[in-house]
Amino acid sequence: MTQDTHRARKRFGQNFLQDQGLINRLVHLINPQPEDAVVEIGPGQGALTEPLLQTLTSLDAVEIDRDLVALLREKFQGKPLTIHESDALQYDFNQLIDNQPIRVIGNLPYNISTPLIFHLLDYQTAIKDMHFMLQLEVVERLAAKPGTKAYGRISVISQYYCDVAQCFLVPPTAFHPQPKVMSAIVKLTPRPFSIRVQNDDLFIRLVKACFAQRRKTLKNNLKSILTSEQMQQLDCDLSLRPEALPVEMYVKLTNTIDALWGADGLLDSPKKKTIGKKHKKDVQK
Ligand code: SAM
Repeated sequence: MTQDTHRARKRFGQNFLQDQGLINRLVHLINPQPEDAVVEIGPGQGALTEPLLQTLTSLDAVEIDRDLVALLREKFQGKPLTIHESDALQYDFNQLIDNQPIRVIGNLPYNISTPLIFHLLDYQTAIKDMHFMLQLEVVERLAAKPGTKAYGRISVISQYYCDVAQCFLVPPTAFHPQPKVMSAIVKLTPRPFSIRVQNDDLFIRLVKACFAQRRKTLKNNLKSILTSEQMQQLDCDLSLRPEALPVEMYVKLTNTIDALWGADGLLDSPKKKTIGKKHKKDVQK
């Protein structure tokens, strides 16, 4: 199979970049340096892979589509590209983390963008930055400020772990086949914490519970995890809606709940989430 005969697979969200000006703009934004440890998610037919390989001394890529893996191996034969045929959602990125933080890039399939970002946050201590092309609506949610309609669970969680910057818009005409919606580039940079959450799992549970029904008040939403007696002990106006609280308030609430009752003292059963914990090695940033 060649690039010309490959039929884009909808189930893998295949919209291939074809606008060379835009590809150059994105690569310029990423600003790869020869020794960077870059990981590309979903290289597809290599639209970004090719210009990246002009600078990088090595590049890792994770691609789920077996046909594209074969195509890429042939196209980039002799180049310092290692392709991992795998589902990025299941992939253990520890395999690619050595003694320097990785840089992750990808024109992501829209259907996996949110779970993939959550999966990658598991490794946030070993990630230098992430540049993604996503559906504009998702980028707006990632970057949303408190008090806005777009501010929600993904805004709070991603902005706690990373600096989030919306970079530029990408029209449907930049792709083949063309998607129905606008896209945008987002840069996520994991950063040191100003206030640290004491229990990451509890933080994820709390934020999820608070935004379960965004039209309801915090008090109503928190009923799923806290008794009314517990709620009375919190120093927080629970008559507010979840979008009113800034990220720091979610961090403070988490730490108060953790100190008072611990994760096991809540009403819902514990969920296993490990954001920030999968990567234990010490990486110099
Ligand atoms: N990077 C290429 C480009 O810009 O033209 C392709 C982008 S296309 C939107 C998404 C790519 O991600 C496809 O190559 C698709 O096969 C791959 N993909 C889809 N789901 C994936 C997954 N779960 N894990 C790894 N790759 C995936």
